[in-house]
Amino acid sequence: MSDYDSVSADVETEEEIPEDHPRYQDLLTRHRIEAGVEKGITHLQGMHAEGRGSAFDYLLGEETIPSADEAERAAAAHLLLADRPVLSINGNVAALVPGEMTALADAVDADLEVNLFNRTPDRIEAIAEHLREHGADDVKGLEADARIPNLDHKRAKVDADGIYEADVVLVPLEDGDRAEALDEMGKTEIVIDLNPLSRSPQVADVPVVDNIIRAVPTITEHARELADADETALRAIVEDFDRERALEAAEERIRSGDL
Ligand code: ATP
Repeated sequence: MSDYDSVSADVETEEEIPEDHPRYQDLLTRHRIEAGVEKGITHLQGMHAEGRGSAFDYLLGEETIPSADEAERAAAAHLLLADRPVLSINGNVAALVPGEMTALADAVDADLEVNLFNRTPDRIEAIAEHLREHGADDVKGLEADARIPNLDHKRAKVDADGIYEADVVLVPLEDGDRAEALDEMGKTEIVIDLNPLSRSPQVADVPVVDNIIRAVPTITEHARELADADETALRAIVEDFDRERALEAAEERIRSGDL
């Protein structure tokens, strides 16, 4: 067993992870997903998703690369310009960044909506409760009274006054089929995903190739800094952002980065 594995196996609470450990962020992320599974908010499959993400983050150097920071600024501008912005929450997002998503929703005046691949009433309620414990006062996704076109029935469920009506949606760690279906609905889609080759970032208007635990607080920081910017300035940020360049820069870093 490596030092890395033994630290991970010994940790019972987040506070026990040594902050000076070279893989601190990864240990923290892994611990939060495990705790999410134990609490009934994260599906077991979420662990596999996390494992894939962890490998890409390792190759990115576990840092926010400059092109990701630009994408995070463009994401903040889109959310501030939106009439009806919605932040989508799945089991991994709820486990990893519940308070950070609540803070972002406050900063850009967006709704939070629970949107699950493996949807059960118990998990939806557990996630909504978990978000409330982290400061959210209104959580959507419990009504599920509308359907995303071109998706199978179970995965298509959304709230009519939430994701269905939204003009800008932030969908972190989204499954590729649903990201494509939301794109076909004409929404401005912001995706956070560590794999630039995955379908979700490939269809996104703003692909943010960064770990969600760094990306969400950074989008919030940009949003706070841009809070007083006028519409022209926000539109200029949106127009200057080049999604192809952001995807290429991330792929280039993953393929050639020094480890
Ligand atoms: P597709 O989008 O083509 O369906 P996939 O099947 O690889 O791709 P999923 O298993 O649905 O995708 O979701 C996992 C995705 O989430 C992976 O692309 C992974 O890189 C990403 N991911 C996992 N953990 C994180 C994280 N902490 N931050 C950002 N992205 C993450």
